[in-house]
Amino acid sequence: MKLVISEKNIAARRIAYILSDGKLKSTRLGNTPVYEFTKDGETWKVIGLRGHIINLDFPAGFNQWNKVPPSQLIEIDPCKKVSEKNIAASLKSLVDKNPLLIIATDYDREGELIGVEVINLLKEYNKDINQIKRAKFSALTNYEINSAFEKLVEVDYNLSNAGEARQIIDLVWGAVLTRFISLTSHMYGKDFLSIGRVQSPTLDLLVEREKEIRNFVPKTFWKIIATLKKEKPFDAIHHNGQFWDEKQVNEIFEKIKNSKEATIEKVDKKIQKELPPSPFSTTTFLESASYLGFSAVNAMNIAEELYMSGLISYPRTDNTVYPSSLNIKGILQKLSNSEFSKEAMEVLNNGRDYPTRGKKQTTDHPPIHPVGVPTTGKLASDQQRIYELVCRRFLATCAKDAISETVDVSIDISGEEFITSGYRLIEPNWRAIYTYYKEKRKPLPELVKGEKVEVTKLTLKEDQTKPPQRYTQGSLIAKMEQLSLGTKSTRHEIINKLYQRRYITLSPFAPTPIAFAVVDALGDCDVVKPKMTATLEKDMDLISEGKKTLDETVKESRDMLTKVMKTLETDKEKIRTSIKNAQQEQNTIGKCPKCEKPMVIRTSKKKKRFVGCTGFPDCKNTYSLPQNGGIIATGEVCDKCSAPVVKVKSKGKRAWELCLNSECTAKKPTKKK
Ligand SMILES: [Zn+2]
Ligand SMILES: [Zn+2]
Repeated sequence: MKLVISEKNIAARRIAYILSDGKLKSTRLGNTPVYEFTKDGETWKVIGLRGHIINLDFPAGFNQWNKVPPSQLIEIDPCKKVSEKNIAASLKSLVDKNPLLIIATDYDREGELIGVEVINLLKEYNKDINQIKRAKFSALTNYEINSAFEKLVEVDYNLSNAGEARQIIDLVWGAVLTRFISLTSHMYGKDFLSIGRVQSPTLDLLVEREKEIRNFVPKTFWKIIATLKKEKPFDAIHHNGQFWDEKQVNEIFEKIKNSKEATIEKVDKKIQKELPPSPFSTTTFLESASYLGFSAVNAMNIAEELYMSGLISYPRTDNTVYPSSLNIKGILQKLSNSEFSKEAMEVLNNGRDYPTRGKKQTTDHPPIHPVGVPTTGKLASDQQRIYELVCRRFLATCAKDAISETVDVSIDISGEEFITSGYRLIEPNWRAIYTYYKEKRKPLPELVKGEKVEVTKLTLKEDQTKPPQRYTQGSLIAKMEQLSLGTKSTRHEIINKLYQRRYITLSPFAPTPIAFAVVDALGDCDVVKPKMTATLEKDMDLISEGKKTLDETVKESRDMLTKVMKTLETDKEKIRTSIKNAQQEQNTIGKCPKCEKPMVIRTSKKKKRFVGCTGFPDCKNTYSLPQNGGIIATGEVCDKCSAPVVKVKSKGKRAWELCLNSECTAKKPTKKK
């Protein structure tokens, strides 16, 4: 018998379907689906896991936060516990006949670890198991699956060791620091403050950016803009750009402000080729999806659904170069029978000789690309938009360069030089396929050196420098990749965790007061700085290449943590006070309209949240709150009744504003300071 282990049930069913040519039998062992078929006279059984079915944890007795000092955990060896008992029981009954075991989990560090966990567990059930193979594939398509099972390889224990090192280090760092900070600030139970090896440096990035924004002092500058006309109007700007000296700009403006005519001094035309974007890695995919309004977690979930349905390749990849084995033409032919037939035909008949390539080349998975075409009407609208993004990106990487013309023009107005530039697409090629980039520059009218054009308006514009922009989820993920924070598989989950732990709000995407306090508390001891984590990520690469051992890496990391804890213990009191204050600030919703004292979010005996006055018991003013969604203070009060106005943000919905006073008749609270 052959027993195939895949990472999830849905993948198990697809693999069985492909290997059996659709002639499979679905059965159940307890609650676990098992797919059976016969091939070449042999019985095959395919079973899906639920990701990790083994959990790493501290031994019983070390899980009581109050009883074990956090530092003591550093040297404790974690133990493995079966977390999916039903699946484990089903597996047990499948291995008594000593089958050939084929690991068909996702091909990456995490997938290899999941496979090795199962191998070790099954060897406990039946120590005679000795035939073990690995199937390596990047897409759940006929071709990939069939060739993977024809060319089975060995399990890569270096790769799984790298995954395991990360698992141990994350558990130890996370548990020690989370317990320390939560116990120190008396915030445990449901509202504990989590700290993580990747999570906290990510939060630090957000806090640092927010500080830059808050500390930003805007500077005033001036610009002189000329509105000119030849057939249609166009703008030019004084060649100096931003003026910082008001007197200087006024003098120039006074001199030219009544000008009625401008002379074209120089026209510089350039034709250029524009290279299409490079193939999608997870990071660039999430970045692009973020521009379309998808949160990172949401985009990743949808991409996984599309992968499981055999429509796109494995969505977790750092690779930006299509491997030479990839049948690009075959995919294009498939797409020529889809809603993208026009684009696919264009690329087939008039595409570039070689697809574009990005900077990073890895061998595990190809860049994200379409592998199948859905039957019409099969996809939900969000799935459709993500599928379309992947298809258009793929088609663009195979399309010809766009050809465009830029024109730089120098113009004289009463002895002052003005400049402008225009842009015109001559041959759109990939730009007609990948329609997500918006070009801000406009075409200019045809201008000739020496000709005179009409000046219709001259404007002296005062403006101010702007603070740096907040990260979006997409730009944050890109920054995390640049700093080696987390992996393609974990980055979007880390952001979600920060939100769940109330460290960030999603609208705006910004850190909360507690985030500031926690980052400041950890700030002096490098835990929140990306460098330490980046070193660990590199170690994991070394382990997968067989150049370093798991034990060495874990030991180094424990030593590092011991040092960190020494510093933190000395700062304990300071940390406690600053988190307490932040918590008070974070829970403050506004001022009580009756007694002017701060009003804060509290939890009733029935575990319902509400807003109460800190003047209690003298002031008994309270407001009820919606029980779901995030509550964000706005600092505004209702125009009609002076109660505080809050923003309510539920998952997947837009934030909406609410006057807390349930008797208030203001339908939409208008703000006043
Ligand atoms: Zn009050
Ligand atoms: Zn009101």
